[in-house]
Amino acid sequence: MMSSPNECVPSPKPVARSSAHSSAQLPSSAEVVVVGAGPTGSAAAIHAARAGLDVVLLDSQVFPRDKTCGDGLTPRAIAELRRLGLADAILGRTRNRGLKLHGFGGSITALWPSGPFPSEGSAMPRTELDAFLLDAAREAGAKVFDGVPVVGVERGSISKAGAGAGVPGVTGVTVKPGDETSTHHIRTRWLLVADGVRSVVGKQLGRTWHRDSVFGVAARSYVDVRADASAGADDEWIHSHLELRGADGQTHPGYGWIFPLGDGRANLGCGALATASRPARANVKKLLRDYHGQVRGAWSMGEPEMVTSALLPMGGAVSNVAGSNWALLGDAACLVNPLNGEGIDYGMESARLAVELISAIGAGRDGLTHAWPALLQRHYGEGFSLARKLALTLTYPKFLPAVGPMTIGAPWGEPLMGVAARLMGNLVAEEDRDAVARLWKAAGRASLGFDGIAGRKPWA
Ligand SMILES: Cc1cc2nc3c(=O)[nH]c(=O)nc-3n(C[C@H](O)[C@H](O)[C@H](O)COP(=O)(O)OP(=O)(O)OC[C@H]3O[C@@H](n4cnc5c(N)ncnc54)[C@H](O)[C@@H]3O)c2cc1C
Repeated sequence: MMSSPNECVPSPKPVARSSAHSSAQLPSSAEVVVVGAGPTGSAAAIHAARAGLDVVLLDSQVFPRDKTCGDGLTPRAIAELRRLGLADAILGRTRNRGLKLHGFGGSITALWPSGPFPSEGSAMPRTELDAFLLDAAREAGAKVFDGVPVVGVERGSISKAGAGAGVPGVTGVTVKPGDETSTHHIRTRWLLVADGVRSVVGKQLGRTWHRDSVFGVAARSYVDVRADASAGADDEWIHSHLELRGADGQTHPGYGWIFPLGDGRANLGCGALATASRPARANVKKLLRDYHGQVRGAWSMGEPEMVTSALLPMGGAVSNVAGSNWALLGDAACLVNPLNGEGIDYGMESARLAVELISAIGAGRDGLTHAWPALLQRHYGEGFSLARKLALTLTYPKFLPAVGPMTIGAPWGEPLMGVAARLMGNLVAEEDRDAVARLWKAAGRASLGFDGIAGRKPWA
């Protein structure tokens, strides 16, 4: 497991803020402007501030704010939080050792694999996690402004920013704080866009999300879990149900999750995969209530509260993710694993990689335009290309009901699902040399090669 530098940050607790910032408080320029203060944007601001850059972090909402999510932090996320020096504070609240997969007549426990990633995970409501990361960004030296939406990007020659003559790029952003009627401009040398799934700022820069590739639609809720319930007391595992039955008794293509939060509650949710031509048939909020009915007894659960749903952009299915001095990160760059719906980890990883890249290359004539998608492809291209093909099979309504009984409940279920948990979590590292890792990487290479000939590579 990785060492934990700077693990002296206070425990996460939301800081109550009453109002948005005003124009008078905003600077007129910064070396780096980060749009969006989810885990991606806050991680980018922390890395940039620690690299000695003058950073402004902007979010349209006033924190603490909710974000529809399963709140799960798998080993990849813990690894990234460790790099930021923030993991222990989060693991101190709750930590889990792996995944219990249920359905099709069985239950299987898969420990988080040991290896390059930590073998522990956690879960924390996003209201708290995101406020915690935002505070860490401020402590790292970023100038943080919440309640300040970015409403426009200004383009022009960035030669004056030291990038060579006549290079087109982004010269600044326009913001419109709180209820103010007037706008305010912030000039910048670098723009990092982490404004989430719909990425309005990304769209202004030319982002195109390809929904012919697989994406997710999911709902989450919070439920009280009685501490003396046999399953509910068991916070050491996160749970995933692969067999979801609607009120009609039919199996629905989708999956459910229960992520204990360590405070007597769990995040209970469910999701389904879809493409533009095969939209999810299930209403996920309704499916969530059916799922709750299925599991509430074993967990002595209360009623689902704060039920919300949202889309998950997956597998790098997006074009135009960078220009000479700007880049899209996290959900804005569709950095969600199609096989398990995690995006917090990839968002934070992309934040680190982007800051390393801008520190290394300078804006130059081409700058980030090709370097950024190429870097994303190097790190995630093979895994995401393969994952989105496998995930696509789950959009066929008859696939899971047909194949499911041959998995968890079967005699070979235990070893099979152990491997599946590792692959679904994309917990195969570059240095892994075992047979499963070699097979997975070879399949990933073939899949990416196929995309290059007959499809669209991630981020292309
Ligand atoms: C139901 C559901 C369950 C999920 N479960 C998990 C899970 O268990 N684990 C996991 O790892 N991932 C999960 N995900 C995915 C995860 O939520 C996202 O991948 C993650 O939030 C991405 O972080 P981000 O910082 O890129 O974007 P976000 O968290 O969406 O943050 C974007 C920020 O940008 C701000 N913003 C938007 N527009 C502007 C603007 N114009 N100006 C300024 N600010 C702006 C928003 O206010 C927001 O704060 C789930 C997603 C869903 C929908």
